[in-house]
Amino acid sequence: MAVKKNTKYVYHFGAGRADGDGSMKNTLGGKGANLAEMAGKLKLPVPPGFTITTDVCTYYWANKRAYPKTLKTEVEANLKKIEKETGKVFGSKTNPLLVSVRSGARSSMPGMMETILNVGLTLETIPGMIQKTGDERFVYDAYRRLIMMYSDVVMEKAAGIEPKDDKGIRKILDEMLHEVKAKRGYKSDTEITAKELKELCAKFKITVKKVLGKEFPDNAMEQLWGSVGAVFASWNGKRAVAYRNIEKIPHEWGTAVNVQAMVFGNMGQGSATGVAFSRNPGNGDSHFYGEYLVNAQGEDVVAGIRTPNPINRWSTSGHGGDNDSLEKIMPKAYKELDAIQKRLEKHFRDMLDIEFTIENGRLWMLQCRVGKRNGIAAVQIALDMVKEKLINKEEAVLRVSPAQLDELLHPIVDPKAEAANKPLAKGLPAGPGGANGVIVFDSETAIKYKEAGKNCILVREETNPEDVEGMRAAQAILTSRGGMTSHAALVARGWGKCCIVGCADLKIQGKTAVIAGKTFKEGDFLTLNGTRGLVYGGQLAMLDATEGNANLNNFLKICDAVRRLKVRANADAPEDAAKARQFGAEGIGLFRIEHMFYGEKSEKPLFALRKMILSATEAERKAALKELFPFMKSDIKATLKAMAGFPVTIRLMDPPLHEFIPHSDDAIKAISKALGISAQQFHQRADVLKESNPMMGHRGIRLGVTYPEITTMQATAIFEAAAELLKEGLKVTPEIMIPVVCVETEITDQKPLVDAAYKDVLARLGKKINYTVGTMIEIPRAAIMSAKIAEVADFYSFGTNDLTQMTFGFSRDDIGGFLPSYLEKGILKADPFQQLDQAGVGFLIRHAVKEGRGVKKALKIGICGEHGGEPSSVEFCHREGFDYVSCSTFRVPIARLAAAQAQAKENATKKTGKAKTAKKK
Ligand code: PEP
Ligand code: MG
Repeated sequence: MAVKKNTKYVYHFGAGRADGDGSMKNTLGGKGANLAEMAGKLKLPVPPGFTITTDVCTYYWANKRAYPKTLKTEVEANLKKIEKETGKVFGSKTNPLLVSVRSGARSSMPGMMETILNVGLTLETIPGMIQKTGDERFVYDAYRRLIMMYSDVVMEKAAGIEPKDDKGIRKILDEMLHEVKAKRGYKSDTEITAKELKELCAKFKITVKKVLGKEFPDNAMEQLWGSVGAVFASWNGKRAVAYRNIEKIPHEWGTAVNVQAMVFGNMGQGSATGVAFSRNPGNGDSHFYGEYLVNAQGEDVVAGIRTPNPINRWSTSGHGGDNDSLEKIMPKAYKELDAIQKRLEKHFRDMLDIEFTIENGRLWMLQCRVGKRNGIAAVQIALDMVKEKLINKEEAVLRVSPAQLDELLHPIVDPKAEAANKPLAKGLPAGPGGANGVIVFDSETAIKYKEAGKNCILVREETNPEDVEGMRAAQAILTSRGGMTSHAALVARGWGKCCIVGCADLKIQGKTAVIAGKTFKEGDFLTLNGTRGLVYGGQLAMLDATEGNANLNNFLKICDAVRRLKVRANADAPEDAAKARQFGAEGIGLFRIEHMFYGEKSEKPLFALRKMILSATEAERKAALKELFPFMKSDIKATLKAMAGFPVTIRLMDPPLHEFIPHSDDAIKAISKALGISAQQFHQRADVLKESNPMMGHRGIRLGVTYPEITTMQATAIFEAAAELLKEGLKVTPEIMIPVVCVETEITDQKPLVDAAYKDVLARLGKKINYTVGTMIEIPRAAIMSAKIAEVADFYSFGTNDLTQMTFGFSRDDIGGFLPSYLEKGILKADPFQQLDQAGVGFLIRHAVKEGRGVKKALKIGICGEHGGEPSSVEFCHREGFDYVSCSTFRVPIARLAAAQAQAKENATKKTGKAKTAKKK
């Protein structure tokens, strides 16, 4: 890395001033920037210190772990400043200064990097410390902590030493500490005497030398540089790298290092340390909330060595009363802390997580950052802060992540139970929420369990339309094959059902399932976390969904006020349409006609459809279509009615016909009888329909091209349904959508059939209907030829499931076999069937939108592939000027939020742009 001249690498903070401020997170890291803000701008009691910038981390990794030349001088000069401000001297025999050394990246990586406390304690400085504090026990306790942390972080981890038998030095020393306690019958660390601690420290050092082959350093400066280097080294520690991969934090950011004068919460009964939140992070209550420990050092609170006490009466849950609260025990310090947290929240305009220490009654602020919170709390806090006028609506929508909102929509596995249990396997998170139940392997058994009032989980290799009843009956679905747009995933998501697909560690052998080597039988319990794709053995506790709660609705109203993009639902049945309206859908973007042939009450229409498919002549087909007609019309009518005038995009039949051919002997007998043909003739006709690549076979518009009467019947059903509703005085907006189009002449072949059906209905029923005829763009050629297609289509709806399938050449039903390896190796960053591939598939979409609108300025554009409910894809649709997104009913709230966030981000960028231009002027 090139070094700029005069680069400042070290920033001081403390005693009412600071070189940096809160805006410098990129240079100082989150912790360093906020320490500077608290010390400098807010003049809060922050122990003085300095921050070594993230640039040094980048330099360190680019230059074989070396530092910039000027760093040493800068660190020494800043150490002098701390000495002046504290009146202590680093390494002094009589009046020693001790420091903490902590990491601090731009965005918080909790627990991923290292901290070393009490740096500067040596055999030389110890007597001075004892004399100054008058507390030998305290000093040796601090020393044993330093040895434990330093040997672990600096001498073992940073040095790259792999512990033998997975037993690191920290564990070895911990066991030695426990041995002392056990021998004396002590319950708490605080009971160990000064003499015992002194002896223990001596033994610790001998063990460190023996295990790690090096002396524990007895020089303050050596300890300081060792600690600084170890923090930089921890940026590329295994845990930290894995965390950044998951959280998508860039590896080149680097961490800063904060060196700060130690203050001690473990100096006896007048001292304490704690962690607090300016509001409750578990439920969002606007009360100060937190925990603390008397006579303890920071890590004791987090490590759970002792059970902390509540800081006030609002924090008492699970602790009994508030007799031990900080408010009661140290009222003066509490009052000061409470006032500070209020000021901090006003200043940062968000819920904050703060760390504090009280040393002999004096309060010190050690850290503040935006606090992590769960979904319920995030929504509550955003709503309250808008009410309090602390933030505006656009900021509020950015304060709740889509994943947090999702938490409010589904029952979840109790996080405490998840923390206490290890998942057996991982699959693709196809349907969010959690579920537990007994294993069943087929639909019939699932239905039986449901009737008996028992929760079950349907476990299959994959599902098909014949399983739909069982899928509905089951609490959740688990499959070993298939991707995010496989049958199981699509159906489960449509119902808001918990579902995991493509779980490669699941092997099904008859009526047993082997999951990661463990055998399960029908009736054994499983628990699924469908949000994260985790499979657990046994029955884990669940938490209820808070669906329908007032906060959720109020928050979504705020989202609606901010967003431009409309949100529709993919709904195939009247009940689903009604549910979609409840979730706030502004229309139906995809009504798949063929879904009326699956699931409940599908027997009769399915029978008629099968007759149609197996017809050998036009006359036979027309007779079957006549039988099918009333079912189709009544389903469409009920859906149009439920949407009360909102647009309903009805897609003409799409799937390959042979999918509907019966397989069971009884069904074959019945259909053959109805058609007056023999079983042999049935099989002959069925064989003709077989295709070797059905996804690219006789489906979609191709059915209408070969059998125009199928298009005519569907269009007539739509228009009659609409006309009858109009007669009842209701509003209807049907949009007829032609699927799987690749060339404009397909539309010019079919549209006249639709228009003719309309004329016929108009003549018979006398009602004018406002309808449009559009197409799906789901084949790359259609996207490429958009300028031609737009001439004959009233609207576009991007079918990104098929468009992704055909652009990548990945079969959407077979990706389970190879996608995991692609993701693991980083060949693909995300599953393109879940997250729209903005570079490739997005290129086609962008082109199609531009060309289409070039021909027809007001061309209505939407998306109805599964991506319509995925936040980053929704943002893409917003940016590309779509009119709406359409997604599974249960994802409508998420899409409303994502659309609002896209708008809020766009506005924020515009504002910064304007501010920059104004500044230049
Ligand atoms: C699509 O292809 O994106 C689509 C919505 O249609 P289907 O999933 O029914 O093929
Ligand atoms: Mg499709």
